[in-house]
Amino acid sequence: MPTQTQIGLMSHEELVAEHERQSANYERLKTEKLTLDLTRGKPSPEQLDLSSELLSLPGADDYRDASGTDCRNYGGLKGLPELRAVFAELLAIPVDNLLAGNNASLETMHDLITWSLLHGTVDSPRPWSQEPVVKFLCPAPGYDRHFAITESYGIEMIPVQLNDDGPDVRAIAELVANDPQIKGMWTVPTYSNPTGAVYSEDVARALVSMPTAAPDFRIFWDNAYAVHPILGVVAPAIDILGLAAEAGHANRVFALASTSKITFAGSGVSFFGSSTANLDWYQKLLGIKTIGPDKINQLRHLRFFGDADGVRAHMAKHREILAPKFALVRKILEDRLGASKVASWTEPKGGYFISLDVVDGTAKRVIALAKDAGIALTAAGSAFPYKNDPDDKNIRLAPSFPSLDELATAMDGVATCVLLAATEKSLG
Ligand code: PLP
Repeated sequence: MPTQTQIGLMSHEELVAEHERQSANYERLKTEKLTLDLTRGKPSPEQLDLSSELLSLPGADDYRDASGTDCRNYGGLKGLPELRAVFAELLAIPVDNLLAGNNASLETMHDLITWSLLHGTVDSPRPWSQEPVVKFLCPAPGYDRHFAITESYGIEMIPVQLNDDGPDVRAIAELVANDPQIKGMWTVPTYSNPTGAVYSEDVARALVSMPTAAPDFRIFWDNAYAVHPILGVVAPAIDILGLAAEAGHANRVFALASTSKITFAGSGVSFFGSSTANLDWYQKLLGIKTIGPDKINQLRHLRFFGDADGVRAHMAKHREILAPKFALVRKILEDRLGASKVASWTEPKGGYFISLDVVDGTAKRVIALAKDAGIALTAAGSAFPYKNDPDDKNIRLAPSFPSLDELATAMDGVATCVLLAATEKSLG
């Protein structure tokens, strides 16, 4: 039964009755003994099947790229030029400034942080680890694994407000202009995790142009969802390296991407784009760590896609699977929670997540209620630095992995938990 009245406008008696209704719904939910999971921001088996052909590529006799490189052997630190060209077009990064690596862009991000700490960047007066304090700006809600990297190295994280078109650049500009300890910033510019925000070109330009007290300030431009629209056409990639160079800060950007949500999440290809000076620095350090990337994996991806249009066509197939799941979540949220005004949620045009805001102070309770009913939700506060959601209201929903049926059951259960927690809160 949809709740027809705004909970905030109910009389005490109505509220008590509503609480009883939702408690009964919840007790019924618990008897279903569900085991459902909305935490996993990963492709479903059906999505992985779209790339099954990769398992037989490049084929027994195919191991050379166009330049004749034998991909079976060591070497080629920068990755296969033809595959780099495909993603250079999609990411709006010049091919010479784009490196293709192994399976995880997160590993590259981790290397970039640890190497900056141990060695300093090309613009650092000294290694970051020799600074008394290092700070990072963290648009929030954001990607929990970004925050985990900086937290693990004791880098102090400063949350900044994330709007629909990117973070609050005015607040950021003021912070970085005055604090030389702020060395960097995490971003997810396209269909951000978890809100779906898409950075506007104005925001991007402001970020690469603003004066910073630290000479070695770095923006981690993590374009993990660059080619992942769910509705409409893909948001055009911003020429972020070009904008940074134009603003006189060519070295400011570390751009990242991967095929994890395009082909196989565990066996894709990652990309790192940056200025020539930064790439030279990176490759010098990378060359100590490895003699070269998995070029056979890169070659099979090249054969699989062919060109940038091949990637776009492949993403259209993902979209056919994902769009109904996102639409279903939206419909259940609207049907169950729309009228009661106890929640708001993002309506992303791409990416992998929906960000749900419940009544202040109830996210932990909702997640605990859902857990007891057999529905796993991402831990409270996950999308915030130090897992600290100041309002205890944000819940990250990941609709990609469950089937449509499972998703419907899980979301209906979540809605019951949101309503029950809201009525509990209102009754004090
Ligand atoms: N960046 C963002 C914003 C993500 O959401 C994810 C995965 O969820 C990753 C990076 C992980 O990328 P990779 O598999 O290339 O390490």
